[in-house]
Amino acid sequence: MTPDDLKQLVRTVPDFPAPGILFRDITTLIGHGAGFAASVEHLAERAAAARAESVAGMEARGFIFGAAVAARLGIGFVPVRKPGKLPVATLGIDYALEYGSDRLEIDPSAISSGERVVIVDDLIATGGTALAAAELLRQAGAQVDHALFVIDLPDLAGAQRLRDAGVTVDALMEFA
Ligand code: IMP
Repeated sequence: MTPDDLKQLVRTVPDFPAPGILFRDITTLIGHGAGFAASVEHLAERAAAARAESVAGMEARGFIFGAAVAARLGIGFVPVRKPGKLPVATLGIDYALEYGSDRLEIDPSAISSGERVVIVDDLIATGGTALAAAELLRQAGAQVDHALFVIDLPDLAGAQRLRDAGVTVDALMEFA
């Protein structure tokens, strides 16, 4: 299935999580066996081209695609977690949201110095989450040059923010 075919499998839910927002929902994409497999295959091809040595995915939807890509390539997966979930001493980063702030944490021992880590998430909007993840992984010693997404919302300019931070961005589809 081509990325255009996959785009037809993404459900758009109006007014979630707040009035006026069009939520792009991958539940329908991952519920379609051939669609999920093709999404993982397309992402894995790009991660392999980026010479990924491991994949990092952000909780929770980044785990779905990121872990599958890592397994497909036979490389490790680094979970980038919400705060308070890991049972070991963590490295964390706080980042701003439109209203308030959030925090991501990793186990720094999951990364070797200079390891080429490719970020995978379901969707990039403002880029704040992926930018924080890139910074956190870099603090742990990773080389983070590429981030892959199923969906890019180009109107929110997140990909540009990541490029400004030296991260090449690729997405299977855009919703403008
Ligand atoms: P950003 O930090 O503004 O780029 O937002 C990206 C994060 O918010 C990702 O982890 C997404 O899973 C989530 N997100 C934002 N908008 C949507 C949406 O329309 N559909 C699904 N997830 C979204």
